[in-house]
Amino acid sequence: MNEKLAACPICNRSGENRFLEGEDYFLSRETFTITACSSCGFRYTNPRPTEESSGVYYQTDEYISHDAAKGGIIPTLYGIARYFTLRSKFRIVKRYSPGKTLLDIGCGTGEFLNFCQTKGFDCTGVEPSDKARSFAQKTYNLEVKSDFLTEVNQNRQFDCITLWHVLEHIHRLDETFVKLTKLLDKKGVLIVALPNSNSYDALHYGKFWAAYDLPRHIYHFTKDTLKTLAEKHHFACVKIIPQTLDAYYISMLSEKYQTGSSNYVKAFFHGMLSNWKGRDPQLGHSSEIYILKSKIV
Ligand SMILES: [Zn+2]
Repeated sequence: MNEKLAACPICNRSGENRFLEGEDYFLSRETFTITACSSCGFRYTNPRPTEESSGVYYQTDEYISHDAAKGGIIPTLYGIARYFTLRSKFRIVKRYSPGKTLLDIGCGTGEFLNFCQTKGFDCTGVEPSDKARSFAQKTYNLEVKSDFLTEVNQNRQFDCITLWHVLEHIHRLDETFVKLTKLLDKKGVLIVALPNSNSYDALHYGKFWAAYDLPRHIYHFTKDTLKTLAEKHHFACVKIIPQTLDAYYISMLSEKYQTGSSNYVKAFFHGMLSNWKGRDPQLGHSSEIYILKSKIV
């Protein structure tokens, strides 16, 4: 079941322009529309599946774990890329977090939290998928809650809260930010990684851009709209770090959606070009990591 939003989820104003119409190339092949708020420019899927009905669009093992396929060059490359990604995420947490209590929202099967745990961090996760959550609990002995808004104790305080490609899936955006503010230590840091719908690869692939990921992604942030959302909830963006590997991965998937083939050479070329052009602040990279700090003292 779909719901149509009457107002922009960030600025609460009505008035929208059609931005793009795209398909769920990954699973359902249904068509969805992305609109852009005529006041603040925020891009969001509208209509979108309701929170209760969105589960059906995640019903595939591949979405839970991209390394499900065994053997061959792609899973091997994916495994190597995943190791580098884990390490680079940890380095960011270590650099910006003022302490060692970490909450990872949307922790999936728990590899990142386990990595941090082995480095001495006190880790808690949130993961709505039963299968992924129980894997993380059993395999890595992690504390993982099923729901952020209802299951994470309001009185806890964390030095660092991470959302790696998760915020673009969350229906109750304001409620989530209110709770994030409560849970984050005053000196704590909120780390949010998101696709950037102003990047070169987004512009190049248009409706085939894999990081629109309709309808699982209900928001399609840019650097500006993420900052607007952060400001609304009294957060300042202190640093933006590009996720350069994402440009290659997203280009490969986008080639597949556009042509039916992964076209590795072309994907590599466009990934490289996206990283090159991403240095232009007007465009930015395929995915960006935002380091946010509360302005409430
Ligand atoms: Zn707006």
